[in-house]
Order: sequence, then C-alpha cells, then structure tokens
Amino acid sequence: MKKLALHWQILIGMALGVAWGMMASSFGLNSFTTDWISPFGTIFINLLKLIAVPLVLVSLITGVSSLSDISRLSRIGSKTIGIYLVTTVLAVTLGLILVNVFEPGKAFSPEKRDEFKEQFAGATTEKSSNAETVKQQGPLQPLVDIVPSNIFRSMTDNGSMLQVIFFALLFGIALILIPPDKAQPVNDFFEGVNMAILKIVDIIMMTAPYGVFALLAGLVVDFAGNDPSAAMELLLVLGYYCIVVAIGLALMIFVVYPALVLTVGKTKYGHFLRGIFPAQMLAFSTSSSAATLPVTMECSEKNLGINKEITSFVLPLGATINMDGTSLYQAVAAVFIAQAYGIDLDIMAQLGIVMTATLASIGAAAVPGAGTVMLVIVLQQAGIPVEGIALILAPDRILDMLRTTVNVTGDTTVAMMVARTEGQLHPPTEITVR
Ligand code: ASP
Repeated sequence: MKKLALHWQILIGMALGVAWGMMASSFGLNSFTTDWISPFGTIFINLLKLIAVPLVLVSLITGVSSLSDISRLSRIGSKTIGIYLVTTVLAVTLGLILVNVFEPGKAFSPEKRDEFKEQFAGATTEKSSNAETVKQQGPLQPLVDIVPSNIFRSMTDNGSMLQVIFFALLFGIALILIPPDKAQPVNDFFEGVNMAILKIVDIIMMTAPYGVFALLAGLVVDFAGNDPSAAMELLLVLGYYCIVVAIGLALMIFVVYPALVLTVGKTKYGHFLRGIFPAQMLAFSTSSSAATLPVTMECSEKNLGINKEITSFVLPLGATINMDGTSLYQAVAAVFIAQAYGIDLDIMAQLGIVMTATLASIGAAAVPGAGTVMLVIVLQQAGIPVEGIALILAPDRILDMLRTTVNVTGDTTVAMMVARTEGQLHPPTEITVR
C-alpha cells in the first residue's frame, strides 16, 4: 500500500487534534489532555527548537563561505536585506490601509470603550513589562545587542538569534579571507555537520503528525477553558478585528507574493505554493518561523530548485529579520486598540507606525508570541495605552499561527527572487518533500 504523503498526515493530525480538543472540553477530559497529550506537543516543539540554533549557525557559515568572494557576498546580502525591507514596509502599509478602511475598533459601543479604559488601566501585563525594559535603554542599544560578548551565551535560551547570525557571518567571511588550503577542511567539516543536522530534521519530521495532533488538542482545550461568559460584544468585535488581520494576510499570500514570484521569480505560483506547503503547515501549527526553518530550507531546495548557496544564506536571515505577517498584524492591532480607546491617529502617527512596526518585526524573535511582545514598542511610540494589549490577547494564538505562515511564505518568496536574479534557480523539479 502506498504511504500517505507527510503533509496529508500532518493535516489529518491537525484535524484530529481539533476534534479531540472539542470532545475533551465537552466531556471533561481537559486535565487528561493537558497532562497526557499536550506534553507530546511540547516535546515536538522542543525538538524543532533544539535544531534551530545549530542550523542557523552552520548553514550561514557554509552559506557565506561558499559565496567565495566578498563582493558577491555584499551584492547578495544587500539585495536580500533590501527586498526584505521593501516587503515588510508593504505589509505594514497594507495593514494600515485595511484597519483604517474597516475600523474594527470603532465597532465597540461608547459605553464599552469607557469600560475597557477602566478595566485595563494599570493592568501592566508581563509582556509589556518585558518590552518596557527594551524601551528604557538608549537609542543605540539594539545595535549593541547584535554584537555578542559571549557566543555560547547567545546560543542558549536567553540569547539572541541576531547575535548568532552576527557570529556566523563573521566566521563565514573569515573563512573566505584565509588561504583556501586552510579553509577547505573547515568548510568540509561544516558541510558534514550541515548534512547531519538536515538528517535530524527528517527524523523529527516523521513525528510531526503526532506532534501537531498534541499541539492542537492542547490549544483547543486551553481556549475552551477560558471564561465562557465573555461578553458577546467583545467576541464579535474581536472576530471582526481577526477578520481584518486575516484579510491582510490573505492579500499577502494571494496577491503580493504571487505578483513577486511571477514577475521576478518567473515561476508559476501554483508550483511555488505546492512546493512550500509542508513548511506553511508547520509554520501554522508551531507558530514559529525558527522551528519551521529546516523544513522551509528543504522545501525551497528540493521542491523549488533554489540553489543551496542562496537558501542557506537568505532563509536563516529571513526567519529572523523578515516578518511580513507580524508587521502587518502589529499595524492592525495598534490602530485597533487606538480605535477602541477612541484615539484618532493622524498621518504622522501612522507613518510612525510604519517605522516602528518594521523595526519591531525585525527585532521580534521567531518564536510564538514574539510579535505581541514587540507590539508594545509600537504602541508606546504611537502614544496608545499599552494596557490595551490585553484586549487582543485572547485571539492572539490563532493570529500568530496565520502570521507565521505568512512570515515563512515571505522568506521563501524573497529567496526565490534572489535566486532568479542571481541565476541560481534550477528548473522546477518534481516535488519530493511532502
Ligand atoms: N510567531 C512569529 C514567528 O515565529 C513571530 C510573531 O509574530 O509572534 O514568525
């Protein structure tokens, strides 16, 4: 019997997970699910995270050193970062247009708005206090933060992926600059490590259907466990807000990226979408671009024919700094909160949001919920009450799943554009990663 392709298995795992979660919450199996099923979801995410830092480090080192001369590196590097910036600014602008047209925050009744102000005043969330610390530092602190004083600390839990990237780029550049006979064994070593890491990814992915089942079962149970007496009005308005974010994200996936893939990438969008479908589904179920990175790279190379030289440089960088979905979401969320509080944002304030949302999405880590933490910076800069963030926390996980899918699609779109313009795109291959 022919084995069912992995992406179908993952899809079935997701559907069964949602079905289980709904059944569990109506039959009182919530704690059983939390105790005995959810941990497998956590194990799956841990496995993916486990491999993320080694993968970024090793693939960037091999990626940079294989570019073999500095001028090529700086051309591809500036092209990549330039396109990343343009797509992010486009996404924020799209989000701003949509939220100003639909005005979801104005759907609250005036009495409700007053209620929110009282309810959330002073309720500084943990998320906001995190970002509070970020905000209190000097203006050049983000720059200082990129340069690690201890690379091993950067690779641990409290470290930063940007620091790992900085070190990997420096190491890769050094490998280009030293005599080739000395660099060769080091390159060979990292090639081998890279292959081993990708093999580990294959092994982890075999458990994906069970992992996403457990993740979604746990999520549904958590959600249903929330206060069911939440006001109907709040639900309706939040639903409206979610739809506005979702429309923006859908426009990115179905209008903006197809246009770029077709015109610059010169590839049929159907082929592109089919090729990265496994990565999109994994992004959706893990809400983490970093955790999805290995699969994004594999799909881009094997299914889309993008040369490894490009994927190993463009994609790890993109997973960390290019988050179109996150920046679009931040723009909509910030203006939604302002509307709910009855604050009118003038054009200057909205332009400010374009800038801060772009920077905040670059600074956001590629893990679940990071975009929401960085949203605080956007709110503070625009003079919107930070407490309002509590308003949008309830549906945040589902939006995180959607925006991460867009983040990953955006990274792959740019990889395809860079590959095409550099002549590094092979003819479309048979789709092998499923
Ligand atoms: N979860 C997102 C990602 O990993 C970041 C965010 O928007 O929270 O791409």
